[in-house]
Amino acid sequence: MREGRFSDKVVLVTGSTRGIGRAIAVAFAEEGAKVLVNGRQKEAAQAVAEEMRGRGTEALGLGADISDPEAVRGMVEEGLKVYGKIDVLVNNAGISLPPQPAEGVQREGFEKVMAVNLTGAFLCCQAVFPSMRERGGGSIINVSSQAGLFGEPGLLPYCVSKAALLSLTRCLAYEWSPYGIRVNAVAPGFVAGGMNEPVLKYEALVSTLSSRVPLKRFAKVEEVVEVVLFLASEAASYINGEVLVVDGGMTGYRTPSILQLTSGRGR
Ligand code: NAD
Repeated sequence: MREGRFSDKVVLVTGSTRGIGRAIAVAFAEEGAKVLVNGRQKEAAQAVAEEMRGRGTEALGLGADISDPEAVRGMVEEGLKVYGKIDVLVNNAGISLPPQPAEGVQREGFEKVMAVNLTGAFLCCQAVFPSMRERGGGSIINVSSQAGLFGEPGLLPYCVSKAALLSLTRCLAYEWSPYGIRVNAVAPGFVAGGMNEPVLKYEALVSTLSSRVPLKRFAKVEEVVEVVLFLASEAASYINGEVLVVDGGMTGYRTPSILQLTSGRGR
């Protein structure tokens, strides 16, 4: 096992078989944590955990569809049985639908997105709460999105679920702070990985989307991972109920800017 910031910690990362979640799981393990890797399919989670153990880090793969309360209970029970505690929960698992106008969104699709992005995160929070309370504290990080801060036409269910996840973050931070449990969120903008992988093939689209970002590029996956680790760490011990926006400045300004519209200058 590695020595590091999270040497004595047990960390559960939902949806960590690929994308940002996998990178978060690996980063925690590299910094000494025992990591519970989760995926809908147990085999996939076990394969990732095995690969991590192969690199000298500590991990256990657990299968659970986080929208299924029984499966979530079983996953947390198994994690507690093996490692005895869960110090950090990262609610990373998330899904979206192909872009479509709001009036065309079917109830089934809407509910599916809410079931994973919101209800799933809530169920995981409830499942880890008793053990965190018993041990006198913990840290929960919800992976929201800049789409939860603003409306994005075509992505209504995703935006609504990610906005509600921010409210969940604030409600739980308030209610569970007496038990030493901090609850925070990260809100990434465009990330060059994970569910955006298919988009990266389309250079023109990436360039148009990047033009909406003051830093003129997508985030590297590591730039999101770092913020999650920071929020889980002692360095963030007084940060609670907060949302850290990791979007290169995108939510802070409008494009095209007044300067661009009036002078044609490129800022
Ligand atoms: P991804 O699709 O690569 O990974 C999502 C992970 O969640 C996968 O491992 C998937 O198997 C898992 N998952 C989905 N439904 C699940 C369920 N019911 N139970 C258990 N696991 C489930 O996506 P990603 O880009 O890595 O996204 C990770 C998180 O970051 C998501 O919450 C996403 O909304 C958020 N996010 C991503 C971006 C981006 O640009 N990629 C931007 C902002 C926020």
